[in-house]
Amino acid sequence: MFYDVSREDEYLFKGKRKRLVEQLRSKGIKNDQVLAAIEKVPRHLFFDNTTARPALLDHAYSDKALPIGAGQTISHPYTVAFQTEQLELRSGEKVLEIGTGCGYQTAVLIEMGVKVYSVERQKTLFDKTKIFLPHIGYTSAKLVYGDGYKGLPQFAPFDKIIVTAGAPYIPNDLLEQLKVGGIMLIPIGEGVSQEMIWLKKNSSTGFDKKTLGSFKFVPLLQNKSGS
Ligand code: SAH
Repeated sequence: MFYDVSREDEYLFKGKRKRLVEQLRSKGIKNDQVLAAIEKVPRHLFFDNTTARPALLDHAYSDKALPIGAGQTISHPYTVAFQTEQLELRSGEKVLEIGTGCGYQTAVLIEMGVKVYSVERQKTLFDKTKIFLPHIGYTSAKLVYGDGYKGLPQFAPFDKIIVTAGAPYIPNDLLEQLKVGGIMLIPIGEGVSQEMIWLKKNSSTGFDKKTLGSFKFVPLLQNKSGS
């Protein structure tokens, strides 16, 4: 089902990742730990490798969103790097990710030294990623099949929350599950692009909020999908 990691992650891909990191640096990503994480995670292994694999591999380290199956996409490397940087992560923190997808962002977060709890609503993607991430060595994430609008109350509160699909509004459950002092990154908007919202919880009801530019995400959909 999956490809041999050691043979696949050869010299060629390491070189391509170095170039991607330089590109991200020139686009404004400054956090060395984030750049080191991107340099480490073998992005070319995360695609839907049952279809169009050779063509996709060519693009694995260009700054593009690409298909991962079930009609979903892996986020642009810049978007992943940007959201990760803005979370201001510290080793050991508890991070909730909404929208596991192929697990690429999850792997980058794990490389940042945090404990990841990630929710995916598409059963097929969830099943695939739950096998795939440990297969390539990322065993520490808690992956849950569920509806991200509800968060994960059983594991709350979280130091940080990252939403990787475009939401029509900020779900209340997520605000409640964020620790005081915690940061959430969430793209908001139902059109072709979304505004990246950064918010910090100051008290149980008070928030600082900033808008950090336009990004493109697939929509955050309501409820679980059975397939
Ligand atoms: N972080 C992912 C991005 C995948 S795209 C990556 O690195 O690949 C966004 C993902 O959010 C899709 O897999 C989609 O199925 C999922 N999603 C959409 N609505 C959701 C919801 N309500 N709860 C959980 N996941 C959701």
